[in-house]
Amino acid sequence: MRLVLLGPPGSGKGTQANAIVARLQAPKISTGDMLRAALAAGTPLGLEARGYMDAGKLVPDSVVIGLVEERLKEPDAKNGFILDGFPRTTAQADALGALLARLGKPLEKVVQLDVPSELIVERTTLRRTDKRTGQIYHLKYSPPPPDAELEHRADDREETVKQRLAQYEAMTAALLPYYQRLGLLMRVDGVGEPAEVTARVLGALGLAA
Ligand code: AMP
Repeated sequence: MRLVLLGPPGSGKGTQANAIVARLQAPKISTGDMLRAALAAGTPLGLEARGYMDAGKLVPDSVVIGLVEERLKEPDAKNGFILDGFPRTTAQADALGALLARLGKPLEKVVQLDVPSELIVERTTLRRTDKRTGQIYHLKYSPPPPDAELEHRADDREETVKQRLAQYEAMTAALLPYYQRLGLLMRVDGVGEPAEVTARVLGALGLAA
């Protein structure tokens, strides 16, 4: 399945993508993860992206579009993918549409995870990732096991989260009417236990939980 997961920062896109990769037998492609990996490796791309990410701003379209174009050429993406955090602007959505049209493999579904902004700050400030497994936890609602090697994302600080939410409203929210017009959009309530939300996502995709 060729799927895009949309939603504000902290809506659970990464958690839900991790939960359904095995079921869909398609890789998760997260531009945020790719940019963080580039940053950790100290590549020129990572260094270029860093200032934007630390400020809670979007990295320029040309940078992320290039990343995704390269990634979609990898063999594991041939039979489908779960895009997490891309597209985030209309220009990115246009570029993705054009690329997939060239490949003759258009998007099949776009799932929006709806989470009210009041919940976002608590979700992100208490979010932690196990750096060995990529598993995402929440210190209160989804506590990590004692042996997890936890990392707190630098951009999950309250001020940066507010800036990321503002960017979402200004740039990314326009993708809802965009994909609605294309007849691809499904909206899922993203509030609740991660497993409950996974069941809703699978239901929206026409798959049994
Ligand atoms: P995420 O892990 O998806 O929340 O992304 C973390 C940060 O990486 C964002 O706040 C942006 O600075 C950058 N980023 C990730 N994906 C994109 C994208 N599609 N377009 C622009 N910037 C992005």
